[in-house]
Amino acid sequence: MTVVVKIGGARAVDPKGALADVASLVEAGEEVVLTHGGSTAVDETLEELGEEPTYVETPGGVVGRFTDERTMDVFKMVMPGKLNTDLVESLQNLGVNAVGLTGTDGKLLEGKRKSAVRVLEDGKKKIKRGDHSGKIESVNADLLETLLPTYVPVVSVPMLGAERDGGYTAVNADADRAAAAIAGAIDADLVLLTDVSGVYEDPDDESTRIESASTVEEFGVVKDAAEGFMTKKVMAAREALEGGATSVVVADANADEPISSALAGDGTTIEPGALEGDDENEEAEVAEQ
Ligand code: ADP
Repeated sequence: MTVVVKIGGARAVDPKGALADVASLVEAGEEVVLTHGGSTAVDETLEELGEEPTYVETPGGVVGRFTDERTMDVFKMVMPGKLNTDLVESLQNLGVNAVGLTGTDGKLLEGKRKSAVRVLEDGKKKIKRGDHSGKIESVNADLLETLLPTYVPVVSVPMLGAERDGGYTAVNADADRAAAAIAGAIDADLVLLTDVSGVYEDPDDESTRIESASTVEEFGVVKDAAEGFMTKKVMAAREALEGGATSVVVADANADEPISSALAGDGTTIEPGALEGDDENEEAEVAEQ
C-alpha cells in the first residue's frame, strides 16, 4: 500500500502524532509520501518582517493568497526552508530516512504559471497582476517511485511554473491540491489531515460528520457541506480520484495514530465511486493558496 499524507498548515495542528504514525507505517512495510502546507507560518514570517499577507477573493467567492514577488521569497524561506527541514529532522529522529523535496526538484510538480488572477474587489471584477501561482499539470511519479522503496519523500510547494517564454519560475500552489496530484499520479490513498475530524454536514457540529461518500449523490452532500477552506479539500479529493487515487480521507491530525485510523475509516472517506457518472466537469477558478 502507498499512502500520501498531507499535514495542514493550521496552527492548531501538531505534527507529532502523524510523524510517529508515519514511522509505524514504514516499519510495517508501507510506502509513505508526506506533504505539508504552511500558510500560517508564511503569514507569521511576513508579519515579523513588517509585511502584510494579501488574500483575494475570486469572482466565484473563493478566498486565496495573492503571492507577490516578496511573498514568494518568504514562501521559499519558510516552506522548503524551515518547515520541510523540521519535518525531515523529526522523521530522522524517529528512525525514518526522509528526503525533503520541493515541487521544483526533478520537476516533481510542474505546470503553467499563472501571473494574473481574476479577483473581486469592492464588488467589482478585476485582473490582478504579479501573482506567483500555478496549476499543477504533471507530477514526476518516476522520481517518487525511485525513492519510495527506500526513503520517505517529504514534499513541499513551490511547484515549477512554466512561463510562456519557455523559462521556469518557482510558484505557489495549494498544498491540498499538490497532495492530490501526487496521490493521483502514484495511485495511492490520500489522507488529508487537518484541525477537524472530517467534513461535517453542519460545519460547526462535529457530531454531524459525514462518514463516507461512494456515490455521486453522497459526494454532493459533502460538496454542499464544505465551506471556506474545506471547499479546497473537497476539490482536491475530486482531483485525486480523477487522477487515479484509490481513496481520499479527510481526518483529524490530532487523533492518536491519525493516518492509520483515517485509513481504517475514522474521518470522511471519499471513494472513486463518488465521481462515477458525474458529468459535471466544472473547474472552479481558485486563487491558489
Ligand atoms: P489545513 O490548514 O489543516 O489545511 P484548513 O483551515 O484549510 O485546514 O481547512 C479546515 C477548516 O475547514 C476547518 O478548520 C473548518 O473551519 C473549515 N470547514 C469548512 N466547512 C467545513 C465542514 N463542512 N466540516 C468541517 N470543517 C469545515
